[in-house]
Amino acid sequence: MNISILVFGKNNFIATLPDQIRYATAFSVEVIDNLNQAVSRIQITPPDIIIVQASLDGSMELCSCLKDQTKLSWIYCILFEDRYQQLTDRKKYGWQRELEMSAAALKQGADAYIWHLLEEKTDNSLAELTANHGLILAQLTVGLRKAQKYRDLIRTNDMLSAIALADSLTQLNNRRALQWDLPRQIKRARTQKTSLSLIILDVDHFKKVNDTHGHLVGDRILQLLCQRLRRYLRSQDTAFRYGGEEFVILLANTTDDEALVVARRLNRVVSNERFSLSNKLTISITISLGTACLKAEDDDQGESLLHRADQCLLQAKAAGRNRVIGSNYLSHIPHFKAVSS
Ligand code: GH3
Ligand code: MG
Ligand code: MG
Repeated sequence: MNISILVFGKNNFIATLPDQIRYATAFSVEVIDNLNQAVSRIQITPPDIIIVQASLDGSMELCSCLKDQTKLSWIYCILFEDRYQQLTDRKKYGWQRELEMSAAALKQGADAYIWHLLEEKTDNSLAELTANHGLILAQLTVGLRKAQKYRDLIRTNDMLSAIALADSLTQLNNRRALQWDLPRQIKRARTQKTSLSLIILDVDHFKKVNDTHGHLVGDRILQLLCQRLRRYLRSQDTAFRYGGEEFVILLANTTDDEALVVARRLNRVVSNERFSLSNKLTISITISLGTACLKAEDDDQGESLLHRADQCLLQAKAAGRNRVIGSNYLSHIPHFKAVSS
């Protein structure tokens, strides 16, 4: 794990930190003493731990800014109290004042609040300074532990998301992924004023493949089919297993006519070459496809767009299978005007 620490402080402050931090090799340490620079650095590459010199302008803003932003709030923030007023108040008013100041610092966003003992400003003994450094290092260990836990959590989360959105047989995105992605692609297309099309395709007479060769061969065919479809898709196309032997492909930046070209190509590459399951067994399959392009009146979730493409698929099946029907074509057939509008 490559742990990174950002020190928001002046160089003379760094010089007072324990050697284990200043000369660390187990983690990277970067020093910034300007609030704006620190904020933009944190936004771009969030560090695991931030050490803040309280006397530096913007120190408290930095602590609270971290906790205000959900995506940064996990960063462990250690606030070092080196403000002269606070140090003298603490001496003057004792432990009650110390507790009040600790509570205020934690409320403002720090995860740990440590009194920074400066030899030149206080009369602390060497033993006190050693104890203070011990506390600093202990807090750093807490921060490192939290960072490790957070990273493990993110990794597990990414893995679970991938599992939840992938189809285990074909490794394509699953229907849940489509439900998540389709509204986003629609929103993007509308915001950027670009076209978006969709293909829905279904394997013809697939039941017969299972009945003739068995379910395992059927499974393998579906895997090989997906590999072939993937090979012929463009970079902007995303394929999903919609259910059983039915697939949806989202085509970003693609008009009605362009979608027809893509669909016809897929139709051709599936029917032209048999699928080889072993030296002895090759199977020929065909697919039927329906296409539709996003219209201004379509809903944001993509239900009407999907429905239009599905009507075309039904029409392709009814017309004899192994073919492509686009919704433009469908809207010219009087019978289908009602369902495709
Ligand atoms: P059509 O041309 O009308 O689509 O005919 P079809 O036989 O493909 O359609 P039907 O809906 O009658 O049957 C679909 C078949 O697909 C039945 C089902 O067992 C099979 N199937 C669905 N998912 C899987 C799968 O994951 N593996 C296997 N081997 N078969 C599947
Ligand atoms: Mg089928
Ligand atoms: Mg089907």
